[in-house]
Amino acid sequence: MKMTKLASAIVGLALLSGNVLADDLPNVSILATGGTIAGSASSATNAEYTAGKVMIDTLVNAVPQLKDIADVKGEQIASTASGNLTEQDWFKLANRINELLAQDDTDGIVITHGTDTIEETAYFLNLVVKSDKPVVLVGAMRPSTAISADGPLNLYNAVSLAGSESAKGKGVMVVLNDTIHGARGVTKTNTASVNTFESKNGGPLGYMSYGKPSWVRQSPYKHTYQTEFDISDIKALPTVDIMYLYIETPAEAVDYYVKERKVDGMVFAGSGNGSLTTPLQATMEQYSKQLPFIRASRTGSGNTPDVSYYPEFPGSQGLSAQQARILLKLALTETQDPKEVAEFFHKY
Ligand code: ASP
Repeated sequence: MKMTKLASAIVGLALLSGNVLADDLPNVSILATGGTIAGSASSATNAEYTAGKVMIDTLVNAVPQLKDIADVKGEQIASTASGNLTEQDWFKLANRINELLAQDDTDGIVITHGTDTIEETAYFLNLVVKSDKPVVLVGAMRPSTAISADGPLNLYNAVSLAGSESAKGKGVMVVLNDTIHGARGVTKTNTASVNTFESKNGGPLGYMSYGKPSWVRQSPYKHTYQTEFDISDIKALPTVDIMYLYIETPAEAVDYYVKERKVDGMVFAGSGNGSLTTPLQATMEQYSKQLPFIRASRTGSGNTPDVSYYPEFPGSQGLSAQQARILLKLALTETQDPKEVAEFFHKY
């Protein structure tokens, strides 16, 4: 639109004097999925509550300071505890994010989400979002009705980060407790603490202080607009299950997964450095030409490299079993070749 001389002089003056014009605020869309951040309890001190009860408008109205940092719009995608989310919810979320971010009038996205599986949704989105604009997942450990609820400040930080120029090109992020985590490697480590999230192999990307980000690290792995994955026309992803290793793991469970469940691939949360038991290894070897088996670790941190003593079973390269499962599903949309599949774990 053509501005009159007077209007452009006023805009120029406002900018010179450092005033922020209302129209200059970033446009941030909040997509709500439920979780404890939207949880409600019968009293402010009741530890038992129902997740996903409070709708997005109420959550946004509870933080009036949001209007000083962004023009915020809310959409309800789901209202559930995050363990109930499905692949179909992921498709809905990812397609909506890609649609919004393709528009000039969206600068960033916030997703409110339960903390239990936030690391799975974050990593999925990290692989399929096609934009360098900020995408930030946020949750809370205390329900919205709790005394000292952590949701409002977490939401404030998330909206501010999603509207921030410096958060561009960093991949999908998770923000809680003043800490910015990259999607790859972030994990919930404690059932109740507000400091539950950690980025085990490398540390967080940065920190938030009342809406101001500061950065300490950049992920070396490819993400978002740098990936080849396109889910816009996909109706269902290949089936990948996880087996957890322990003393006397039944090797015949592998037969069940391959023959009855008809999985397309499997991830093992192995002991230590992704180790397998001898009977398990023998059973897996029978199927290793048919489908890929990826070795992750049940320890919760450290690398799980490719090793010469398991030539047929590549390592997840430090990805947890639950994040390795997501990458394996997406890799299988591109290739069925176990050797090629293994290469994806070095890239993403
Ligand atoms: N306890 C969970 C949370 O922190 C519930 C969920 O994941 O939805 O949000």
